[in-house]
Amino acid sequence: MSEFQPGFLCCSLLARELEVVSRRLGLEGSQRVFFESNCHLASSQDSWPPPRAQALLEGDKPVLALCMNCKRPSASAQAASPISGLEHPGLQVIEVQTQGELFLGQDATERALAEGAFIVLPGWLACWRSIIIDSWGFDAATAPIFFGEAATRLVFLDTGVEGPWERELSALAAFVGLPCEHRFVGLSHLEALVRCASAACSQRSERRTIQAAAAQARALAAEYATVVDFITSLGSLPSEAAIIASLEGTAQILFAAQQVCFLPHDPENEAAQGPASFEVAVTFAGERLGMLAVHGIALPEHRARYLPMAAATCDAAGIALNATRLVERERSLARQLEQKVVELDQFAYVASHDLQAPLRRLVSFAELLESTLGEQLPPRAVTYLDHIQRNAVLMRTLVQDLLRLSRASNSPLRAEPVQLDLCLDRALMALGSSTEERGAVVERRPLPGIVGDPGLLSQLFQNLLGNALKFVPADRSPVVVVSADREDQRWVICVQDNGIGIEPQHAETIFAPFQRLHRSHEYDGSGIGLSICRRVVERHGGEIWVQPGDAQGSIFRFSLPVVAT
Ligand code: ADP
Repeated sequence: MSEFQPGFLCCSLLARELEVVSRRLGLEGSQRVFFESNCHLASSQDSWPPPRAQALLEGDKPVLALCMNCKRPSASAQAASPISGLEHPGLQVIEVQTQGELFLGQDATERALAEGAFIVLPGWLACWRSIIIDSWGFDAATAPIFFGEAATRLVFLDTGVEGPWERELSALAAFVGLPCEHRFVGLSHLEALVRCASAACSQRSERRTIQAAAAQARALAAEYATVVDFITSLGSLPSEAAIIASLEGTAQILFAAQQVCFLPHDPENEAAQGPASFEVAVTFAGERLGMLAVHGIALPEHRARYLPMAAATCDAAGIALNATRLVERERSLARQLEQKVVELDQFAYVASHDLQAPLRRLVSFAELLESTLGEQLPPRAVTYLDHIQRNAVLMRTLVQDLLRLSRASNSPLRAEPVQLDLCLDRALMALGSSTEERGAVVERRPLPGIVGDPGLLSQLFQNLLGNALKFVPADRSPVVVVSADREDQRWVICVQDNGIGIEPQHAETIFAPFQRLHRSHEYDGSGIGLSICRRVVERHGGEIWVQPGDAQGSIFRFSLPVVAT
């Protein structure tokens, strides 16, 4: 992958060596630009750097510049290789300037030079005549003088590339008049240099990839933080309209679009999706609740990345919309139910109230009939009259109970400080004779003060105690215990008896109007008492329930809010 490979700017004398090393290191795809040997003699600035090198130097990859430094050994500093003057934006040019360094390493090269060696490389040897004779201007007479002063011997570093060199080397040695040492050096040093450049390149490239990935992850995290904020806020959004407004606002922030809107579900509303637009369905459990339409996003190239984000946002909105719709439906049902209960209560009140007068008349006329014509009536008629009277009385009781229930539900609720002990006193007083008749014992613990309606609360105690005394086998004396416990912000009042008990399956039904577990000849009553109790407790913000027990009795409990001090 050329992305992970350095570029090379290389003297043409090293072309073969570089090719071999590149092949060994798998860098065949690297960019290589060669310049002519004797680069220091390039007369015009236009020809340097070579035109093809320009693109290489303008890129942002590391560039390994390999110069043979083949200038005349005694040349002045001004004649330095133009490699050193190259500029490479933002990156270091790896430059090797001493011939031998490429194959011997810097120390060994310096040592050899100090000992008076003139280092010769294969590429140089291949064109020694054009360098020494044409470029430097020596001939067979002057060359030995110059070389005799500059060096004691020639050291030929044989890289093993091309060759054989013996003939050329002998010709050179004869021409410059120096002895020659032939050293086999291989390419390992050059290879190490290229390997380093290549590693630097891939490190750089990987670092850039990681940095880009980190930047993208940061951007994604920021975007998803917006999505998470939206999801978190959903729980507190009060209505469908608020959820839709928040969904549109979030999409606007995320996608910087020209237009964002929520379309209610409409199968024909399938708008085209362009490169800068998209639509995402808002669904819940497969049901389409609407569609989020986003048009004119600021960065269309991110469209593919936006889609999953939009899907996550719409999924969350779908859940919230569904929940809100359910709650709204439930509220509307509860409102309807409440309305029905009010209507029913009103009907019960009107019916029971209006029935009282004709019932009273029915009873009166039956009594009148009995008192005036009683003796003249045949026995059968007397029996019928008796039936009429008993049923009329029963009906009057039912109507009065219904009226009591209706009043307990609808009469204006007084809210005043009230001592429950006093309510219990009033209830016991009302029950007076039946308590004494049964030889009942009522044990009472102190009861708290609350805020409520004294009349209704007295009736509550009266009904519960009345039952506690009533539903006791005839051969047992009733024992009733009334107590109160505090549980956090509520009082729990307990009425416990030693009566016949209630089976668990009846624990709820007994609170419904006219629900009785016994016939009238066993225990009298109409089945309205406990439903009155429930209305009274609920109107005071509490609950009532029975703890079913065995035949040893029942425990009725009801809660009332603690008065804030
Ligand atoms: P009523 O007392 O007129 O029958 P209630 O509404 O007060 O009507 O009670 C409903 C039914 O619950 C009673 O008929 C009775 O079967 C049962 N019940 C109520 N209180 C007790 C109790 N303390 N012990 C046993 N059963 C009871």
